[in-house]
Amino acid sequence: MTERICYACGERAAAPATRCDCGEPLWLDTDPHDFDWNAVADDPGMWRYAELLPFDSPGGVADAAGGTPLLRLSRLDEFAGVRLHLKDEGSNPTGSFKDRGSALGVAAALESGVNIVGTVSHGNMAMSTAANAASAGLDCVVLVPDDIPESRIDLISQYGPRLLRVSGDYAALYDRSLELGVELEIPFYNSDVPLRVEGQKTTALEICEAFAPGVPDAIVLPVSSGGHASGVWKALRELKTAGTIDQLPRLYFAQAAACAPIAEAFDAGDDAVSPVEGGETIAYSIANRDPPSGTRALTAARETDGGVVAVDDDEIRAARGAIAESGGLSVESASATSLAAIRRLAVDGELGEEDDVVAVATGRGVSESPPSSERATVDRVDIDELGERLGSR
Ligand SMILES: *Cc1c(COP(=O)(O)O)cnc(C)c1O
Ligand SMILES: [Zn+2]
Repeated sequence: MTERICYACGERAAAPATRCDCGEPLWLDTDPHDFDWNAVADDPGMWRYAELLPFDSPGGVADAAGGTPLLRLSRLDEFAGVRLHLKDEGSNPTGSFKDRGSALGVAAALESGVNIVGTVSHGNMAMSTAANAASAGLDCVVLVPDDIPESRIDLISQYGPRLLRVSGDYAALYDRSLELGVELEIPFYNSDVPLRVEGQKTTALEICEAFAPGVPDAIVLPVSSGGHASGVWKALRELKTAGTIDQLPRLYFAQAAACAPIAEAFDAGDDAVSPVEGGETIAYSIANRDPPSGTRALTAARETDGGVVAVDDDEIRAARGAIAESGGLSVESASATSLAAIRRLAVDGELGEEDDVVAVATGRGVSESPPSSERATVDRVDIDELGERLGSR
């Protein structure tokens, strides 16, 4: 299954292309027609939906990806203003939904016979890719910004990847790494590449199966690159095509006000998302000033009758506090934006107290920093020399 298709113009392309000539991101061209809930497999976690995925589980930690709890947290209803359900993605092995995409990426790499994978990230995606690679016996290269805090190095290093601190334009690394990856046969599983999106469909498949034969009124998730949002939207479209659901839940996306390019485009009624200046926020995991799948997420919100909401750091703090104090869960600040957005939508009358709404809590809040490790190799390189360095591994 290497055919890819553009959601925007319908143009097809073969792997390893990740972008359409029109500029929009590609996703896998899948045929879900035969799927129904009776066709789910007796496999662990996300692999239950093997029928809708291009690869089987490689085993190991990948078997722990997905299958996360959907909690009915009625004590948060008053704060939220809706009937609140929380999808606890912190239950994934490295503490975020990124494991769904990483697990599928590693499965694809093993199938194609390469012995290394890569990613560009200094956060959850770096940990997730490194952990899944480690469990599959693959090498892993993680490109991080030169000024990364040491505490993050320790978190990523525990899985023993090769870390390259790259100086130069970190934003340019997203495309540069994909180009180099094709040249050097290192699959880079960046935030919205087709295989990552495919794995991240399973968040929505699990939510819909839990509500079957109905659907929740709305699903709300924090959005940065737009990769997760794309996967969720694709899954809903596939279920509709298969006739497994009759209507799509409304999709609402949450951003931090300090860096909210998709929310700004939504409010302005723009057709496409433009880069913003971007400021500091406690929700650092979703501060992407130029999201590669921003326009795709914008389209998903519009076509499902949903929206995009920007919440400020005070609202995020209040929501994070409420989830801990009334829900008993510690989530990342980025993840708390979903509840903050729901509260705002309820105050504005877009969601009501009879609505069943799923807040996707994308990442876990509490984790112990490991002791500094000698395990990983950490080198410095300039972006202009990256090709040479990766080529001479
Ligand atoms: C990566 C991440 C997001 C954003 O996901 P995108 O696919 O980049 O939009 C949200 N929350 C957490 C905790 C994340 O790690
Ligand atoms: Zn296109």
